[in-house]
Amino acid sequence: MIQNTDVNLLNAQNKVETTADNRQAITEQQVLIAGGGHVGLSFALLLANHGIASTLIEKNRYPTISPNDDRNRSHYLDSRNTALSRRTVQIYQEIGLWDKLQSHACRIDSVQISEQGSFGRAQLNKAEEKVESFGQVMENAWLGRELLLAAQQAPLITLIDNANVSAVTQKADGVTLSFSHYGEEKTEQQLQGSVLVACDGRDSTVRQLLDIGTTTYDYQQTAIVGVVETDKPHEHVAIERFSPAGPLAVLPLTDPDGDGNNEYQNGYRRSVVWVCPKGEETRYLEDDAHFLQTLQHAFGQRAGTFVAAGRRGAYPLTRVLADKQADGRCVIMGNAAHTLHPVAGQGFNLCMRDAHVLAQMMSAQVLKGADIGDPTLLKRYEKARLSDQKRVIRFCDAVVHGFTHPNPVIKLARNAALVAFDKLPNIKPLVATYAMGLKS
Ligand SMILES: Cc1cc2nc3c(=O)[nH]c(=O)nc-3n(C[C@H](O)[C@H](O)[C@H](O)COP(=O)(O)OP(=O)(O)OC[C@H]3O[C@@H](n4cnc5c(N)ncnc54)[C@H](O)[C@@H]3O)c2cc1C
Repeated sequence: MIQNTDVNLLNAQNKVETTADNRQAITEQQVLIAGGGHVGLSFALLLANHGIASTLIEKNRYPTISPNDDRNRSHYLDSRNTALSRRTVQIYQEIGLWDKLQSHACRIDSVQISEQGSFGRAQLNKAEEKVESFGQVMENAWLGRELLLAAQQAPLITLIDNANVSAVTQKADGVTLSFSHYGEEKTEQQLQGSVLVACDGRDSTVRQLLDIGTTTYDYQQTAIVGVVETDKPHEHVAIERFSPAGPLAVLPLTDPDGDGNNEYQNGYRRSVVWVCPKGEETRYLEDDAHFLQTLQHAFGQRAGTFVAAGRRGAYPLTRVLADKQADGRCVIMGNAAHTLHPVAGQGFNLCMRDAHVLAQMMSAQVLKGADIGDPTLLKRYEKARLSDQKRVIRFCDAVVHGFTHPNPVIKLARNAALVAFDKLPNIKPLVATYAMGLKS
């Protein structure tokens, strides 16, 4: 989407002037969002659902998307898929977006966990756990498309794309965001708001401008991500398999609808996340036969025969945790706050729970007639979210380190743990509840 910044600024003011009196106080308290990826867009939509206006600054140029043309999926040339937890689905239901998303979401009815060359295995079934599903697998491209369409259509959201954040200035009563806008010519612009929420990703510019440090850990691994076809239907089973080369997740996918040129057969399409040691990614990316053989070797016939692989992407894996998430009138959110290992499919779901809580706290503040960017409110938000965040970070690391440790004694222990997990009656429902994001 090509937008003229001046027009957007004018629109933001018009919204304040033309909305009903009881909404005026709300819209006057402008929320600035830096970064319009999935978290930034979702947060803007959550705020809009509470009647709170926001202006979002995104570095990339958004494409022009027609609601009637579902081939144009998003601004992401992204082969990734995201496992959305039950809680994330509930949040999208709450803001009325799930109806649009669900045509491209594939239910997870059961989860199988096992280790290559070992006896331990565990299985979670939706019937046993008495749930509708464990979550939904969604193409990132479709999620991006629908979030962008919804944000473009929301009167309370102003999108400014092609704009790179360059400075943040905080005062007692507000925050000023400076950015370079790359329109026909480059211009320097400023926006004032009550609060700034940084959703600008792992290498967050705002975090750096605020001089907030990070604790980082390089896993020395790369995630290879893509779509494959198997000769056996997925039957809505998610398979998590640990191999000596790294963890591997194979998730069920919907079929692409549409134009009759489908390269994948009905129900045989799956998303793969393969984690390999850093430096070994080139062959997995470039050589289809090698990639398929590796999957086959790691999986045996659990998913059937791997017959075709689509284009793959590589993501170097580093855990990045911001030293703080609230600083004056600024909040650090999404990957900018915590970038996690994708092994357990928790990162985005955690961000959505953060975004949901902050939007609720801001809404309550507005209803009291109080300042939406009050630093004490933002500190309360940070405190409220820490225990859920720490639990998820610990869980992801335990899975990564526990399952990649080559020591035979540890291997035996983890297999015994998998067997115990499968047999003990009270553990599975608890783990399932956490994995679905229903408990924090
Ligand atoms: C291989 C892989 C698989 C994953 N699978 C799952 C899964 O199954 N389930 C799950 O829950 N999570 C998963 N995740 C995690 C999930 O992808 C992330 O949590 C999520 O993408 C974070 O989104 P974000 O919007 O915070 O960051 P980003 O997607 O990085 O978006 C940041 C945005 O900010 C913009 N930006 C950056 N700098 C500036 C600037 N200076 N000015 C303006 N804008 C700027 C960028 O252009 C971008 O649009 C996975 C991650 C990986 C790597």
